[in-house]
Amino acid sequence: MIVVLGKQASSDQIDAVAARIRAEGLETRMLYGVEKTVIAVIGRRPPELLEQIERMPGVDSAMPVGAPYKLAAHHAPQSRTVINVGSVSIGDGSVTVMAGPCTVESREQLVMAAEHVAAHGAHILRGGAFKPRSSPYSFQGLGREGLCLLEEAKVLTGLPIITEVLDPRQVEEVAKYADILQIGTRNAQNYALLTEVGQIEKPVMLKRGMGNTIDEWIMCAEYILAAGNPNVMLCERGIRTFETASRFTLDLNAIPLLQQATHLPIIVDPSQGTGKWNLVEAMTLAAIAAGADGVLIEVHPSPDTALIDGAQSLSPDNFTALMQKLTPMAKALGRSIQEPTTVL
Ligand code: PEP
Ligand code: MN
Repeated sequence: MIVVLGKQASSDQIDAVAARIRAEGLETRMLYGVEKTVIAVIGRRPPELLEQIERMPGVDSAMPVGAPYKLAAHHAPQSRTVINVGSVSIGDGSVTVMAGPCTVESREQLVMAAEHVAAHGAHILRGGAFKPRSSPYSFQGLGREGLCLLEEAKVLTGLPIITEVLDPRQVEEVAKYADILQIGTRNAQNYALLTEVGQIEKPVMLKRGMGNTIDEWIMCAEYILAAGNPNVMLCERGIRTFETASRFTLDLNAIPLLQQATHLPIIVDPSQGTGKWNLVEAMTLAAIAAGADGVLIEVHPSPDTALIDGAQSLSPDNFTALMQKLTPMAKALGRSIQEPTTVL
């Protein structure tokens, strides 16, 4: 932390600030200038100290120097987290593809989507059983029945499952079926839910809150890590901006920014991020080019009749076409696509 005191600060006020800092067991280095006095603080400070010091007489400002997160911070290249899900290693440098319908609608719909994405190179099957809807009157997902259908699709295809959990009270049940638990954008700052998924062993994919800065998002991941679960991956899924031409603005800057700031694997969701199926291919390729560890793509056997998110879902043929471009693109970047996990 750096503390800046203005010209108006008396020497008693400067001494009082330095004494307050030292009372916390921290060291101080004093820099006396003509216009300002600066105190550099060395040591691990209690989180509330910064605001307390800022309120002291004579203080212009107090600024943190280090990142506020500890467990999520990136320290060295060798400390990158790799998350093993079945035979898939997420974050090992290769590209992981998670694909499937936004929402499990029926056995037929899920099996068609699952068999198609498995046959065309996906590694993990996505599908929502519990859906967070803007309107309480909209279809909320099949719930437990959806989880059972996902389990069936996993047996059929061999693909591990990623599915969303909405409520701390459902974590135990969802974790019985899911190989990865998804925390959605609307729950990204539900600290009770984050703490709950921090207490299980299954990996968690934390989506970015649509109104969250990168730092706020990493602090959300810190909640899960601090509760004891080290298997956290982050998913950029678009943020709210003034732009209305796409549903959200996919923040590709987040990928290299997160790589610098954290050691956690980074997934990109171009489906929610664009809201338009005909933007999904370009944004998927861009995400991989920017260094994402994986992508999460919505695929529906018949997007026109989808109950949720049909406008942003790829048809099976469009998914096949995307995968045909993704493989040479990854290779050109010196990255491989993971071996398919399917039993088909
Ligand atoms: C989804 O993946 O279908 C979804 C609801 O995602 P988000 O939480 O990013 O909106
Ligand atoms: Mn969706």
